[in-house]
Amino acid sequence: MQTNNNLVLAALVASLGVLGGVSALLLWLLSRGSHIVQMVLTIFLLVFAVAVFLGVLSLGLIFLLAKPLPALERMALWAVSLLYPLAQRLCGIFGISSEALAQSFISVNNRLVLLKNKRCQPGELLLLLPHCLQWNGCPHKLDTAARGCHSCGRCQLGELLELQTEYGIGLAIATGGTLARQVIAQMRPSCVVAVACERDLLSGIMETKPLAVYGVLNERPHGPCFNTKVSLVQIREAIELFLQREV
Ligand code: SF4
Repeated sequence: MQTNNNLVLAALVASLGVLGGVSALLLWLLSRGSHIVQMVLTIFLLVFAVAVFLGVLSLGLIFLLAKPLPALERMALWAVSLLYPLAQRLCGIFGISSEALAQSFISVNNRLVLLKNKRCQPGELLLLLPHCLQWNGCPHKLDTAARGCHSCGRCQLGELLELQTEYGIGLAIATGGTLARQVIAQMRPSCVVAVACERDLLSGIMETKPLAVYGVLNERPHGPCFNTKVSLVQIREAIELFLQREV
């Protein structure tokens, strides 16, 4: 999959421009009204606009310096979550799909995780998988930890369970963002390798910040949410990244 890492940054900068334009228009309209209302709103809009601008600038700086800057990262993530819906709409106008933007966001998130160089013990690492990896015709009912899988080879869950045992890490299957958040709240991992589609990874990464979540996109040869697959090589690389062992 070819991912344009700069797409999300460009879309955020464009959104910032639109936000600035709308704010200026609003201020111009307000300039015709009461002075006190105008002053209060001008201060509010200026503080807000400067904070968002600094957030986007922080993201650019982190990448430019290629260094983990925790204080700036919080501001950057706040600005990204705020501007993202607007960026999505702008991309739509220019014929860029939400999926492409989300892929770019996930790639940027993974770069941030890499920059942080976060390490954890195997017991603190959670491999979070979507339910759609299970073969649709599987007669076995699996629990959240995938207990019940007979490793028959019809889908990749057996191999993923082998990876879990090999590394001694946690593994959970979650259907949808709500269950995924519940699992994270219960297991309290320090680091997560999450497999999902663009939409679920995007919301999961945004909603669990500042947790270090490395996103791996699933493959959907049969369409969405049905007998999906994932690259085991990418999963192994992501696990090694957090455990800092040689592959
Ligand atoms: S590998 Fe496990 S989950 Fe997949 S089809 Fe076989 S028994 Fe079912």
